[in-house]
Amino acid sequence: MSTPSIKVAARDAGLVIAGEPLAVDLADTIRMSFDPPRDLIQDVQRNEIFWKVEQPQLPEGAGAADLESTKRLRAGIRRLFDAKVDGAPLDADALHLINQFAAAAIAQPQLSTTEERPVARVNWISETPGALSLAVAARSAIEVLTGPNADRLRRCASHACSMFFVALNAKRQWCTPDGCGNRERVARYARAAVPI
Ligand SMILES: [Zn+2]
Repeated sequence: MSTPSIKVAARDAGLVIAGEPLAVDLADTIRMSFDPPRDLIQDVQRNEIFWKVEQPQLPEGAGAADLESTKRLRAGIRRLFDAKVDGAPLDADALHLINQFAAAAIAQPQLSTTEERPVARVNWISETPGALSLAVAARSAIEVLTGPNADRLRRCASHACSMFFVALNAKRQWCTPDGCGNRERVARYARAAVPI
């Protein structure tokens, strides 16, 4: 499948891919604001679309992970992200799960060279392409929770939304400017237009 058609397929599946880290994108494949929650990777086909559209965040040799493992990792990531955002202690089982997935691939840093300069690359070793994708997603979660932007992990300010994002801009409150941000602006104008 070519890149434009995978983007269309992702959009049709309701997946919002907006430059967030891989672990955040995975956490956001379930919308808790719907009752019952809406799962955007509810079947094998949509799960494959998710991993294909995330290809730019995955190393060479990675491929679609199986649906069950993807959902298991997602559940662990969401528990940790929820706790972080709420300032609650991180759940030990979820930590163990993330570490297990992260350990399923080994990264070998390698130094090579072009004619002009040294070049760093990483050689990944894993049992399957899917295990590699899950390991990279788990490492992404570790980075989100501990990296330089760890305190910028947020949940969308809309009560009708459950999406996480990393607020590289400290003022950012909304998951997407054309989604919740836009709805809030429209609502604000509507409130302002009502005479008191
Ligand atoms: Zn939102």
